[in-house]
Amino acid sequence: MNIIVLIKQVPDTTDVKLDPKTGNLIREGLESIINPDDLHALEAAVSLKEVWGGTVTAISMGPPQTIDTLSEAMGLCVDKGVLLSDRAFAGADTWATSFTLGKAIEKTGQYDLILCGRQAIDGDTAQIGPQVADYLRIPQVTYVCEIEEVTEEHIVVRRRLEDGYERVECAFPALLTVIGELNTPRYPVVGRLIDACREKSPIKIWNAADIGVKTDEVGLEGSLTHVVKTFAPKFKRQGKILKGSTKEVVQDLIRKLRESEGVTACKAVAPTCQL
Ligand SMILES: Cc1cc2nc3c(=O)[nH]c(=O)nc-3n(C[C@H](O)[C@H](O)[C@H](O)COP(=O)(O)OP(=O)(O)OC[C@H]3O[C@@H](n4cnc5c(N)ncnc54)[C@H](O)[C@@H]3O)c2cc1C
Repeated sequence: MNIIVLIKQVPDTTDVKLDPKTGNLIREGLESIINPDDLHALEAAVSLKEVWGGTVTAISMGPPQTIDTLSEAMGLCVDKGVLLSDRAFAGADTWATSFTLGKAIEKTGQYDLILCGRQAIDGDTAQIGPQVADYLRIPQVTYVCEIEEVTEEHIVVRRRLEDGYERVECAFPALLTVIGELNTPRYPVVGRLIDACREKSPIKIWNAADIGVKTDEVGLEGSLTHVVKTFAPKFKRQGKILKGSTKEVVQDLIRKLRESEGVTACKAVAPTCQL
């Protein structure tokens, strides 16, 4: 079974801070890690390989330092790594990112399964997995929390929904986006980490020409969306404690909500309140 895992290097925090002047992410002092969901995708891929044989290839798009993320993946028993790095890839929106990853996947050749994390903790869109599947025209299952059955032809998975679970059978080749419930990632093997940093490293670096894309099809130029402004929302929360009996407090609350501008939902609810 040939498995591809898409991994993203992200800052080691969900508390992303933006420079108020430029709107850019403040990266100083931030460690980089493999996106947490992607560790579960790597673990699933390596576990499947241990049963079914084949190879696991990790692909990541990012600046040159993303090689550290791929080296870490090697330590987690991945066989090959591909770093997609080119100045032309910079400034990609999710569409351009998915297109670039899709092109690289096509270049790697035959694959049975593609695994991604559900969501990156920095970009947070959860769009890449579904968009890559769409580009490759293969079936996708998102929010996978259990792999129940695998045969030569298909995979049966359980996916988490808001109010329960769904069991899905999917033919190969397929793409799954996975969540943390799926497994417990293993610890890296130090010897493999060292091998990844040696001269004959199993990590290849591909640029735009290597994956056969024109520079205006990728990165900022190839993006369908553009960020006009980035800002952190200002919280102006005011705490007020209402005192009195339950009836008085609720009546007071309804009055205050009615007085405040734009609270239309409450107007519909308030007349039916029976205390
Ligand atoms: C309008 C717009 C403009 C943007 N402009 C810029 C910009 O100028 N500069 C910039 O740096 N970013 C920019 N971004 C962010 C960039 O597009 C996203 O970080 C990137 O596309 C991944 O999206 P995400 O972080 O939401 O990942 P998600 O979709 O949440 O990630 C899901 C999964 O997809 C996989 N994945 C995601 N990204 C990668 C990757 N790079 N390599 C391998 N696997 C991956 C991982 O498995 C991950 O768990 C922009 C985004 C938007 C929407």
